[in-house]
Amino acid sequence: MAGIYIHIPFCYSRCSYCDFYKTTDQTLKSDFLEAICDEIILNASFFKDNQISTLYFGGGTPSVLSLQELQSIFNCLSDFVNLSELDEITMEVNPDDVSEAYIQGLIELGVNRLSMGIQSFFDAHLRKMNRRHNAKQAINAVEIAKKSGINNISIDLIYGLPYMTFDEWKKNVKMALDLKVEHISAYHLTIEKGTPYYDLLKKGKLTEINEEDSEQQFEYLVSKLEEAGFSNYEISNFAYGKLISQHNSNYWTGKKYLGLGPSAHSFDGKKRKWNISHLSKYNEQLKGKQKYWDEELLSDTDIYNERIMLGLRTLKGFNSDFIKRVNNDIKSFFEQELVQQIKLGNIEKDDVYYRVPKSKRFITDRIISDFFYIDE
Ligand code: SF4
Repeated sequence: MAGIYIHIPFCYSRCSYCDFYKTTDQTLKSDFLEAICDEIILNASFFKDNQISTLYFGGGTPSVLSLQELQSIFNCLSDFVNLSELDEITMEVNPDDVSEAYIQGLIELGVNRLSMGIQSFFDAHLRKMNRRHNAKQAINAVEIAKKSGINNISIDLIYGLPYMTFDEWKKNVKMALDLKVEHISAYHLTIEKGTPYYDLLKKGKLTEINEEDSEQQFEYLVSKLEEAGFSNYEISNFAYGKLISQHNSNYWTGKKYLGLGPSAHSFDGKKRKWNISHLSKYNEQLKGKQKYWDEELLSDTDIYNERIMLGLRTLKGFNSDFIKRVNNDIKSFFEQELVQQIKLGNIEKDDVYYRVPKSKRFITDRIISDFFYIDE
């Protein structure tokens, strides 16, 4: 099984926390659509050699594209992939791009899962994040999508916002549950270099929240969502019933994926490849049949560290069979660390999987970093 990721790099505005590659310049759209088609054609062998099960449109804001523009991408892909046979086609949408006609068009294209960046149900928070939508639009967007027949909707929330009280977070969790969506992704705010929030942080105009408050918000989120029947199948992701994100789950279990579009990453089991993070250069390089990516062959250490990181973030855990395949240095390091972490109560094991117990989920990233192997 393999996945396709398509990065749509356009946004109408820049959110204050966002460090994804994007541009607010819409003039390069038609060149981009041509370049994406060229990139699809150049990767014909990937489609021939792999059974594709998922397609994911991320960004940027994929819903900046009109239905006709999206149709042109689907047309190019359908020369290589039988899109009607895919298990999951996800599209990220911004709430204020949602209308009945747009969702109907997406369904006709084959989209069967939506991921909506809601982030908060408080307009004051949304304004501070420079989001385009307001809370009312977010609620309407979910209702429209449900009425149109999409029965696999994911919403994104952000916690750890410096200006959000615990009571407001509780209300956000309640509002999310009241929407009765099938999937919730909740990410802690991280302030990355190059974002407006980073500048505010440096100027002392924004402070990060303390660890106790972060933990309180995380524990509340997990307890309320689990109580409502959601499974915390990955540290930041919650699924109702079986409706996990298949695309991301394949990524977390080391399956192959092809990333198309500027800044998109690909993985073929051994090599990581990343496209140039510059829209006009990406378009020009593809037009001129020039190289538009960089790549590296992953070492044993790279693959081990990545599998530890992705595996321990999931409820299922890290597959112990993987350790049989690594070199002796990594194996003995892992085994020594495992003894320590089990003693500390940070790791539990069933027949096959090592996992972080529920009581230690908040410190998962710290546990993972202890397992990272560094080459001498
Ligand atoms: S969060 Fe999404 S909508 Fe906002 S700037 Fe980033 S990619 Fe664009």
